[in-house]
Amino acid sequence: MPQMTLEPRACPICGTHDGGTEFAKANVNLDQLDPFAFASRKLPEYMHFRLMECQNCDLIYSDPAPQPADLAQLYRDAAFDSGVEAHYASRTYGRFLPAIVRRLPDRATALDIGTGDGGFLQELLDAGFTRVAGIEPSTAPIQAAAPAIRPLIIQDIFRPDSFEPESLSLITCFQTIEHLADPLSFCRNAWQTLKPGGALFLIGHNRRALSAKVLGFKSPIFDIEHMQLFSPSSLRQLLQTAGFQTVDLQTVLNRYPARYWARLFPAPRMLKPRLISMLQTSGLGRCVIPLPAGNLAAIAYKAPLLTPSR
Ligand SMILES: [Zn+2]
Repeated sequence: MPQMTLEPRACPICGTHDGGTEFAKANVNLDQLDPFAFASRKLPEYMHFRLMECQNCDLIYSDPAPQPADLAQLYRDAAFDSGVEAHYASRTYGRFLPAIVRRLPDRATALDIGTGDGGFLQELLDAGFTRVAGIEPSTAPIQAAAPAIRPLIIQDIFRPDSFEPESLSLITCFQTIEHLADPLSFCRNAWQTLKPGGALFLIGHNRRALSAKVLGFKSPIFDIEHMQLFSPSSLRQLLQTAGFQTVDLQTVLNRYPARYWARLFPAPRMLKPRLISMLQTSGLGRCVIPLPAGNLAAIAYKAPLLTPSR
């Protein structure tokens, strides 16, 4: 059972303690958690800490929440079982790259934070970046990385002092911003590390998406790992507060095999493994189906260097 101490937490965007109203009471049962609870893609448990909704920011956030050091330990030891799904996710997110790359100052350096088995690093190389690196705190996905990709992955969390200020052209970070104890510091650090005109490309859950509304508290976005849940307006506010000049928001059409979608749909826990194994043995589970899974892409650009006008 994970060891955790909870501590009070203010809104991670605006920092107010009293701007929030209770959105949901905690329903955590620590005895039911297994090592897969802190892997990024797994059977959802529908558990969460007490959730507050900030009226200033339109953000839902955990308060109280685990201490950052406890979270870091949990992620380091998390199990990993989703190489195939991670591959499909990388392809989905790679579709955004051509339009982003056209606006960047250059294609010199790209960093993928929370890179898992580094599947997206290949997409970055294919998009023409010269120097590519990934950061991943958990041991298991790095061991699962392709031999050619593994040397590009640093086992760590993102530390701004590991990189020269204004040295990176693009930073990508997928399905991770919800997990961070301090997402605003993270975005500020990313901003400092980016060159003028560089971009931070985030993908996260949209709590205002149709799928989240339909599923309610059975939505996989309500998860013990998620320290906050963004809407389009709260994600824009986060990135603008961190210093980014322009923020493009887009809906993500996720392309996954049917067997992966089956894992996410709410079904009795006894029934779900049978459904998944049926899809796997019949071959139907391999069909790739594009669906809006309630994910939001944000591409935030740092102001370019001003060129003197004539
Ligand atoms: Zn707030």
